[in-house]
Amino acid sequence: MSRVLITSAIPYINGIKHLGNLVGSMLPADLYARYRRGRGDEVLFLCATDEHGTPAEIAAQKAGKPVAEYCAEMWQTQKALSDGFLLSFDKFGRSSSPQNRQLTQHFAAKLHEAGLIEERTETQVYSNADGRFLPDRYIEGTCPNCGHDKARGDQCENCTKQLDPVDLIEPRSAISGSTDLEVRETKHLYLLQSKMRDDLREWIDTRTDWPILTTSIAKKWLDDGDGLQDRGITRDLEWGVPVRRGDGDWPGMEGKVFYVWFDAPIEYIACAKEWTDEKGMPDADWQRWWRTDHGADDVRYVQFMGKDNVPFHTLSFPVTIMGANSTGEDWKLVDYIKSFNYLNYDGGQFSTSQGRGVFMDQALSILPADYWRWYLLRNAPENGDSEFTWETFQAASNRDLADVLGNFVSRVTKFCRSKFDETVPQGGTYGPEEEAVIADLTTRVAEYTRLMDAIEIRKAAAELRAIWVVGNEYLQRTAPWTAFKEDPDRAAAIIRLSLSLIRLYGILSQPFIPDAANAMLKAMRTDAAWPNDVSQALDALPAGHAFDVPENLFAKITDESRDDWAARFSGTRD
Ligand SMILES: [Zn+2]
Repeated sequence: MSRVLITSAIPYINGIKHLGNLVGSMLPADLYARYRRGRGDEVLFLCATDEHGTPAEIAAQKAGKPVAEYCAEMWQTQKALSDGFLLSFDKFGRSSSPQNRQLTQHFAAKLHEAGLIEERTETQVYSNADGRFLPDRYIEGTCPNCGHDKARGDQCENCTKQLDPVDLIEPRSAISGSTDLEVRETKHLYLLQSKMRDDLREWIDTRTDWPILTTSIAKKWLDDGDGLQDRGITRDLEWGVPVRRGDGDWPGMEGKVFYVWFDAPIEYIACAKEWTDEKGMPDADWQRWWRTDHGADDVRYVQFMGKDNVPFHTLSFPVTIMGANSTGEDWKLVDYIKSFNYLNYDGGQFSTSQGRGVFMDQALSILPADYWRWYLLRNAPENGDSEFTWETFQAASNRDLADVLGNFVSRVTKFCRSKFDETVPQGGTYGPEEEAVIADLTTRVAEYTRLMDAIEIRKAAAELRAIWVVGNEYLQRTAPWTAFKEDPDRAAAIIRLSLSLIRLYGILSQPFIPDAANAMLKAMRTDAAWPNDVSQALDALPAGHAFDVPENLFAKITDESRDDWAARFSGTRD
């Protein structure tokens, strides 16, 4: 048995995530967690909400709520939706937790001790009306380049020119619209990432098994231009982890918080402590996953994320870990990073800010999770961006789930009930047809296992579908409904193997479509032991073993429904 630590990039708190977010981290992470558990590994699977930063403050302001209350409510909403999509987190935590606050302050102290933090004075725009410093993108004004009157302090969206807030003509606060702005001096802490550049390169160079998407992005940031830049890790905000040096004050940094990108990845670790605290377990139980000096040496740590998150996970967060380790601590570094391109929506991009696409709550209001999980995973944007269209969604659901898998389960169980009864029939022996099926599946299950080990999701989905097809083609070839008329024993042997195939499909399909898979296993009244030996696995249901005929597993999506949904989700949500 191996031990596998799995984290999904943590979704930001301000609103419901769309299907592109889901397939970019949480869903494939769940696929892998379910697969490893199915193989009998000890798995700890963690995710959380990312709650700090200005966007959360502004979303709360818009909702007319204190930011802490807003985040607590949105956490409930996101938790319910992750449950709805059957995401099997051991803990869905919160980056605003006391555990993360304490751990973030601890890491800051360690990085200070390691000589990796420097205080720098800079100038920033302060809004008197709002009573706060404004991040660059919350200052608006007229672009000096093209005259666009809604240019932001970091960039003009119209002409894409990179800007400084001082470049803007007639600058104003994007929060209140006030023009009562002034430039003030403020002090911030910088993480000296540039000092760790060689260590990072050495480490990344040893990660020869990482996907090219991951290492190419990491190396770009490591080497582009002047190379890896130091990063400001504090902000003049109220909502966040207060800047402290461990348990002590940080002189000169009173009233400031850590930047959301500093504390968010630390929540991966804090989330494990939230998990043990909630269960009343001792600290040793989370430390054995995260501290190599406390037993995490044999843990394999796998992260899942969209490509936009790769720089923070290959560079910034490792600097935090390596820096703390240089003071004598022993935190676990990631072993494998699976990153994803983007899922597009019907000829454009999914967009949270514009409400474009299908969002998690809307998806579940139309169809159960398995339909979405299957489609999204079989089209996972692994080697390039992929595209959601209602036509391909309908086709994948109808052809793969209803016609191939659902139809096989339905035909076999109903035929057995009508010709024998609701037990595995006896009589007849396996011949060349059955031996061919067992040989074919032995090869295919080994390949499926190899692809799942390698987290090659699209290829694994294609192999799983091929495994389902084997059953359908076997039924077509052997035609038990015809055989039954002349040789009922022959029909019994065919159905006996077919019922065992349902069990096998239930086990193998569990990571992709857990609800249907569990319905199949429940109907077969059987366990879910991984089929290390396919021949033995297809012998697991003896003659006389009782089963139930399950409800139809999948309904077909009609053209009317497809067109209706396409029209309903063609605009933006309110
Ligand atoms: Zn412009």
